[in-house]
Amino acid sequence: MKAVFITRKEEPFQLKGPFLPALFFRSEFEVESGLRSASLAMTALGHYIPWINGEKPDEGLLTPGYTEYPKRLQFQTYDVTSLIQQGNNVIGAILGDGWYRGSCGPMGMRATYGETIALAAELTLTYEDHIETIWTDPSSWKCTADGPVVAQDIRRVEHYDARKEIPDWCRPGFDDSAWEPCITAEYEGKVIPNEGEPVLAHERFIPEILKTPDGGTVLDFGQNMAGFITFTVTGSAGQTVRLLHGEALDEDGNFTTKNISNEKFMPLGQEIIYDLKDGTQTYTPQFMICGFRYVQLIDWPEEALPQNFIATAVYSDVKMTGTFTCSNEKINRLVKNVEWSLKSNFVEVPTDCPQRERAGWTGDINVFIECADLFADTRRFISKWLKDLVLTQTAEGAILSIVPGVFMMNRKTREQSAGAAGWADAVTRIPMQQYLVYGSLSDLETCYDAMKKYVEYNIRRAKKNSLRSLLHPSKDKRYILDTGFHYGEWLEPGAANMVDALKAILMPDTEVATAWFFYSAKTLSEVAKILGKKEDAKRYRGLSRKIREAYAARFIPNGKLNTKRQCKYVRPLYMGLVEGALAKEIAAQLNELVVKNDYHIGTGFLTTYQILNVLSDNGFHETACRMIENEECPGWLYEVDRGATTIWEGWDAIDPQTGRLKSKSLNHYSPGAATSWLFTRLCGIRALKPGYQEIVIEPKPGGDLTQACASYESVVGKIVSDWKIEDEQFVLRAEIPESIKARVVLPDGTIIEDASSGVYACPYVAAVQA
Ligand code: BGC
Repeated sequence: MKAVFITRKEEPFQLKGPFLPALFFRSEFEVESGLRSASLAMTALGHYIPWINGEKPDEGLLTPGYTEYPKRLQFQTYDVTSLIQQGNNVIGAILGDGWYRGSCGPMGMRATYGETIALAAELTLTYEDHIETIWTDPSSWKCTADGPVVAQDIRRVEHYDARKEIPDWCRPGFDDSAWEPCITAEYEGKVIPNEGEPVLAHERFIPEILKTPDGGTVLDFGQNMAGFITFTVTGSAGQTVRLLHGEALDEDGNFTTKNISNEKFMPLGQEIIYDLKDGTQTYTPQFMICGFRYVQLIDWPEEALPQNFIATAVYSDVKMTGTFTCSNEKINRLVKNVEWSLKSNFVEVPTDCPQRERAGWTGDINVFIECADLFADTRRFISKWLKDLVLTQTAEGAILSIVPGVFMMNRKTREQSAGAAGWADAVTRIPMQQYLVYGSLSDLETCYDAMKKYVEYNIRRAKKNSLRSLLHPSKDKRYILDTGFHYGEWLEPGAANMVDALKAILMPDTEVATAWFFYSAKTLSEVAKILGKKEDAKRYRGLSRKIREAYAARFIPNGKLNTKRQCKYVRPLYMGLVEGALAKEIAAQLNELVVKNDYHIGTGFLTTYQILNVLSDNGFHETACRMIENEECPGWLYEVDRGATTIWEGWDAIDPQTGRLKSKSLNHYSPGAATSWLFTRLCGIRALKPGYQEIVIEPKPGGDLTQACASYESVVGKIVSDWKIEDEQFVLRAEIPESIKARVVLPDGTIIEDASSGVYACPYVAAVQA
């Protein structure tokens, strides 16, 4: 697309000023006879809604999507042949702030990417004998800010004044003489065809109407989600209604947003202000998306009836691929909650949460990717985001903690906290995971140079002497990563975000940083081998060995871990930092800690996603089963018991003693990542070769479960492991694509090589708890 950007001559944008109206653009053009087809390419610095002759050409939302705007901007292409007529036609668009100028990132700062929103269109008319192209040439376009969307922002507010609607603004013959002329705008990045999955409207929900103790009227849609609501209201011009979106009721049963906002530092917004015209009217916000389950109605002029409201879940159109059910209904709800947190956080880029920060935190998707890949086909969605991850790498080689880049604490730089262990390592772990699941080299190729640059950056960081390295004058200290900023394990049970943030600043965790230094070096050596880069493979394999030796000497002196923090056991086990007898010993100690802790979760952000795998793979599968079945806090099913419909950021987001709602989001997928274990261990579906070319189905029953069924639509076809226990018999129904090699391993140890779809059985006696 040749992108010529136009904008309004004088946009009164101010960083601390009010939210601005959406801009309407229009241009009329003639079509002669003999038109064969018409194609529209459109993009914007901001969020655009395309129009042709009063119609929208497709269902896509939040276009042009979210990329690292300073570097690249997607455009969309629409076949508009059926919307074009011979004679006079109008092409138009409505333009809002979107991510480009709207509130973004942890602190919700505005104008992260620019202060001027602008539109570019290219309409190609293909006639029988020639082609004509119409661009956003400022001389033939007009615009107005005097439309009904009087204020808008992607997360704070959408204010619509129905009295200001402009009937027929996008029909031929409309009198636009009062509209303003346009001017051109500059964009220096690259304009690229759409790469990600389109963001679309999906499931719809009708609410239950609640009358809350404080006298409020609240809609409960029964499901936490990212999306918007459509409402119908009857009243008269001059009345104004407000709709506030939140994800919780407080301990008294009243609507609240206190768990996800702070009026002074982080106002949430998520508010629709709607000025009525006379009569019955229906509205759907166009420029704001919210994370919500509840909507409070303010100044509603009539009785609120369920049929006047619909909530629509909005997410990138990834194909769902995995299902899981078992004999424990609470686990089934947990799985649904993971799926909903995935949907809520897969809106253009993988985010931490859909209401508070809505940011592409690299660490969150780094721990969730394996789980995400079971629930959904993430190929396009993740490939697009990885390109932005690579493009935002710092000159030194650090990977940002949030991609696309956003301002963190101030407007000086978007590089604060870059290179944080476990977050930055998304650059190695995610492409490798995508290769293993989908069998394609493309993400590895996209990220290879960036991986290398990042590991080299870690080598330099590790060589630097920190004050702490003076206390450990070992010869290995250049393999210990003790400089730089690191979040550490993050949010172990009982921790508070602010306290952990302070710890990260004042005393970053060297063990966490060194373990990830190892993990990325090792992964890089494997990737180098896959891509045929022998020298690199050797260099980074050697490096990872050295780091492993240094790690063991520093953090597991004399083969002992003198700590009760479970993360310190899970990490070396999962990463392969320990092996043989030492690994066995550490796994046994971990098991003891978990049992002593009554099977409650004791790990934080960077190891919870692996604890069940580590227990099952090291002979403590029964402990893993008891952990997932545990209904007390901290545990996965505690939140299910408390009515969760998505995964919570903190285990005690609702305090088990007081029932008070804490400052924690209720829609973070990261703590739900461990549910991949249900597919890969409990039902035992695992790929042995990239792209599921060879698999094993090795179900491991346990706990009180008597039945479980995991189904996964892999790139080579559907794989199912569906087992039940009946009359001391274990019966497995396996579905295996014909084109692949598969092995089935039954709980009694029976191995069936070259297995195909069918039923397999063995005697079964419940395991004795370790
Ligand atoms: C986010 C996380 C994120 C973290 C960094 C939080 O505020 O919501 O999920 O990864 O900050 O530690």
